[in-house]
Amino acid sequence: MKGVCSLLSSNEEIHRLVNAIALKNASEHSGSTNVNTVLSRILSLKPELKKEIKTLIEEIKVVVDSVNKLDLEQQIKYLDSTYSKDNLLDPKSRHEHVDSHPLPELEVSESQVVTRFPPEPNGYPHIGHAKAVIIDEEYARVYNGKLILRFDDTNPMNEKLEYYDAIRNDLEWLGVKPDIIKNTSDDIKILHELGKKITTNGYAYVCTCEINNIRTMRMQQVECPCRSNFDNSEYNQERLDKLFDGTYHQNEAIIRFRGNMQDKNTVMRDPTLFRIIEAPHPLLGQKVTVWPTYDFAAPVEDSLDGVTHALRTKEYELRNALYQDILDRLELRKPKVVEFSRLEFENMPVSKRKIKKLIDDGMIEGWDDPRLLTLSALRRRGFDPKAIRSFVLSLGLTLAETKPPFKTLESINRKIIDPITIRLFFVKDPIMLFVQDGKDTKVKLNNHPTSSLGTREVEVSNVIYISRDDAVALTKDEHVRLMELYNVKINEIDLENKKIITASYLNNEIIKDMKKIQWVSEKNMTKYKIIIPKEIYQNDRFNPESLEKIEGYAESSILQLKSRTPVQFVRFGFCITEEKFTAIFIHR
Ligand code: ATP
Ligand code: MG
Repeated sequence: MKGVCSLLSSNEEIHRLVNAIALKNASEHSGSTNVNTVLSRILSLKPELKKEIKTLIEEIKVVVDSVNKLDLEQQIKYLDSTYSKDNLLDPKSRHEHVDSHPLPELEVSESQVVTRFPPEPNGYPHIGHAKAVIIDEEYARVYNGKLILRFDDTNPMNEKLEYYDAIRNDLEWLGVKPDIIKNTSDDIKILHELGKKITTNGYAYVCTCEINNIRTMRMQQVECPCRSNFDNSEYNQERLDKLFDGTYHQNEAIIRFRGNMQDKNTVMRDPTLFRIIEAPHPLLGQKVTVWPTYDFAAPVEDSLDGVTHALRTKEYELRNALYQDILDRLELRKPKVVEFSRLEFENMPVSKRKIKKLIDDGMIEGWDDPRLLTLSALRRRGFDPKAIRSFVLSLGLTLAETKPPFKTLESINRKIIDPITIRLFFVKDPIMLFVQDGKDTKVKLNNHPTSSLGTREVEVSNVIYISRDDAVALTKDEHVRLMELYNVKINEIDLENKKIITASYLNNEIIKDMKKIQWVSEKNMTKYKIIIPKEIYQNDRFNPESLEKIEGYAESSILQLKSRTPVQFVRFGFCITEEKFTAIFIHR
């Protein structure tokens, strides 16, 4: 234990780090920090210190105490002069320290690892797809292999060109660079040939039973008449020809795998391999009407594409036996199947099907509605693609179906955007604060407490606005600091009637422990709206209050920013400008 103590107390680097974290956090939170925040930050940077947590907490207490005694301006100055030149708090170096689960090694017997990401173009990609494709890409990168992006487009009823484009664009935004891009439909001829082959070889049969009967018989574990006639190869061949020459129409015939109706795994009870879909295909139009199911197309394509490791989510577990059997029957090379867990979040849909339903029902705007976790929504909402990547990789290849807190993604994103995001003042539900003896003046405000992002000049008269939340907490005769402006003494509070507070100018000294609030000046403000996305479901139902809109005043310089510029409204949170008078809340 002695060694431990001396490690901490004599370790200059750790001391400096604690100081820097405390100063930085205080400077971002109106001058005060606390032990827990500093502790969790330092442990994420140096998890090895967990072993010495008691000593560490003692050290942090002392530092937090002394940092809190400084006022904001002093904290910023100190942080700037003491720590800005080393990169202790550099976002890049912190970035690498996300508490992560490294990807397990692959079993490799081939000369080159080939992975693939096979989305169906039936919707916009979401954060779950980001997890899948990033793991695929990461393995290809680590093993010096290749990544294939394969559009699994074999169900024309659900697929659209718009979705191919969205997937391609959003993956590009995410920074994913596939080595090969292809469509399953490119190979439709081969797939048809192999479908015919597996049938003529006796491993599959054409079934013309009614869909409901098929379902019942599968449940009751009974073979249908089509299968029983299976030994009659002429009969089977004739029906196969009819299927491919267009004699049969949609829902009149399918090809079924000859599995085992007694199998406990219901997937193996003669699953469908091909069906007729007469809707036009987005790429092939009406030329093709016989389409393989995912169960048939996935193993065949993986095998033909040279995929060595087929990574897929655990929900396909029961389909693995079929995947292997189909390749066995066709005498095709078998890729290794590697499983990982689906990424899901509490109260937020991470499934195209569920999202599509919300859109079709008119509950949300579209695929980029800011409440969603689609990549287009996360982009619109101001998330940096690097944050998504590092979040996904921090989860690793876990099989456990845990739902990570969304806050983790937010905090990774905050670390990335914080140093490059300007600060502005915004007051929610404004209340006028009339400074009785306030003179007209101009003040220069820093656009960032630590980074050099410039300054802005603000004209101030004796009419100032503060947020209602702050106003209700004020008391008569209280002294408060209007951040970076001056201190006032509160004289009268009349929130109910006039919504006015009167105050008198006190002085401009930095006084320890004085309450600090943000403000906007009447001479320099604009009405402003902030949209706050919240969890879409509440108790498994659509949450009608999931998109909160709040109004207030912001400094008018916000109007000069281009749309999609992130800003941090001091003591409020990070937002991204959307339209001229509106921003979307990113996170605190
Ligand atoms: P959805 O349920 O959203 O419709 P899907 O599984 O039908 O998703 P596909 O386009 O078939 O979507 O998926 C492409 C790949 O992305 C699959 O390999 C699938 O395992 C993976 N994937 C889809 N959703 C998630 C998720 N939530 N977490 C991890 N991987 C996912
Ligand atoms: Mg699917």
